[in-house]
Amino acid sequence: MKELTHFINGTHVNGTSGNFGDVYNPATGEVQARLPLATPAEVSKAVEDAAQAQVAWGATNPQRRARVMMKMVALMNRDMDILAEALSREHGKTLPDAKGDLQRGLEVIEYCIGAPQMLKGEYTDDAGPGIDMYSMRQPLGVVASIMPFNFPAMMPLWHVGPALACGNAVVLKPSERDPSVPLMLAELFVEAGLPKGVFQVVNGTKEAVDTLLDHEIIQGVSFVGSTPIAQYIYSRATANGKRAQCFGGAKNHLIVMPDADMDQAADALIGAGFGAAGERCMAVSVAVPVGEETADRLIGALVPRIEKLRVAPYTDGDDVDFGPVVTREAKERILGLIQSGVDQGAELVVDNRDFKLQGYENGFFVGPHLFDRVTPDMDIYKQEIFGPVLSTVRAGSYEEALKLAMDHEYGNGTAIFTRDGDTARDFAHRVNIGMVGINVPIPVPLAYHTFGGWKKSMFGDLNQHGPDSFKFYTRTKTITSRWPSGIKEGGEFNFKAMD
Ligand code: NAD
Repeated sequence: MKELTHFINGTHVNGTSGNFGDVYNPATGEVQARLPLATPAEVSKAVEDAAQAQVAWGATNPQRRARVMMKMVALMNRDMDILAEALSREHGKTLPDAKGDLQRGLEVIEYCIGAPQMLKGEYTDDAGPGIDMYSMRQPLGVVASIMPFNFPAMMPLWHVGPALACGNAVVLKPSERDPSVPLMLAELFVEAGLPKGVFQVVNGTKEAVDTLLDHEIIQGVSFVGSTPIAQYIYSRATANGKRAQCFGGAKNHLIVMPDADMDQAADALIGAGFGAAGERCMAVSVAVPVGEETADRLIGALVPRIEKLRVAPYTDGDDVDFGPVVTREAKERILGLIQSGVDQGAELVVDNRDFKLQGYENGFFVGPHLFDRVTPDMDIYKQEIFGPVLSTVRAGSYEEALKLAMDHEYGNGTAIFTRDGDTARDFAHRVNIGMVGINVPIPVPLAYHTFGGWKKSMFGDLNQHGPDSFKFYTRTKTITSRWPSGIKEGGEFNFKAMD
């Protein structure tokens, strides 16, 4: 049995706790590796070593730090196929999806090459007699990243990249479900020239996370995962005086107006609802057709498309639409929620509850499901299912559809499909959700914009990547300076002279 490691001070390190977690191949249901679970002492040592390494890294000029990012981009491109295969093997997503996961992470590393530009401060010449005022952005020190299973490359890269580019050291706690790619990325960073100890990877569960949250050296915490844990991490980190940004779950609505191009809307819903087995925080899990006729046409367009979806392991060729979900527990939870939808009166239009894949009977496969006539009181509407299940809620009017999206406790992403510019503009302005698509089903902002939800999808106030990430991972210091010639000119410094 393969035994995974931590990555400490530039090298793979075996765990010493004697406690291990199982890493599965979701397609076969077999355990493929053992993961060491770090003790508080192991986590603390990684943090303390990171603090030592950070001193020189923080003092390294931004251009040199940017060169490490540049090299990292080249190395990731070199190893793209190897990384994608390792990612699919633990996560279960198709190879094109795994490459997308890596690519969207890579784009943030590319953005970080602009660190020298992003970190330039502000300067006011002659703010008063002989007085100059300037501000600089300095790294926080050591920060922690606690990451989810669903994007094992993209999510860590979105955080580790900007944190390092700003001069911090990072202690990453990857998901215990698919930790191999984060370990491989840590190795590549060292090959790219990152000094040892600046990027530490500790594997573990709650105990490791709590140690990071309580450690006095840790200055900032970035979390991505489910909402209850996001809320917990945010409260504990901030109660300990740390800066925190915690991104949680989602229930993304896609509104289909009567004037929408129905083929485009249906195609969009298939990709956004079922891609990556629905295990994306930007997956569309609720379709909201406006009007009975629109609803009937939408269901009519969706059903044949869903029936054509090919569910199989990533090894089964390029035409696989999606693979298994991540764990047996996830599969059982999804099937349980589907059953609750039936019990609570929703119409299960595409029913794959008995889905079995020959040769992979023990794999964590869930077939695609489509519900119609879902209502807001049902569990399948209230909860994030995080599986290949699309719910349709029929709305009587645009206002009713908008209200549905606005009343939901989650506020990560949403989209509207329409040909009417007025409606689209009204929707974008009024909806209380962080990322909005207009005829775009998964409106994931690119690296140079910022990514983040509203309401219970985000705790904290600075988003992921883009300019916000450079703000999150730095502290502003403002200096007011006066030189002797200024004192001569203006006599004693008088604040009134600044009016
Ligand atoms: P999760 O909350 O179960 O786990 C996330 C991380 O928290 C893991 O590293 C895990 O080890 C750790 N953790 C779990 N329980 C903990 C506890 N009690 N105390 C301390 N740490 C704990 O999430 P997941 O299942 O890995 O990921 C899926 C979730 O992530 C979904 O809800 C999805 O919507 C969300 N997500 C959100 C975004 C976003 O940007 N908003 C992006 C990706 C995923």
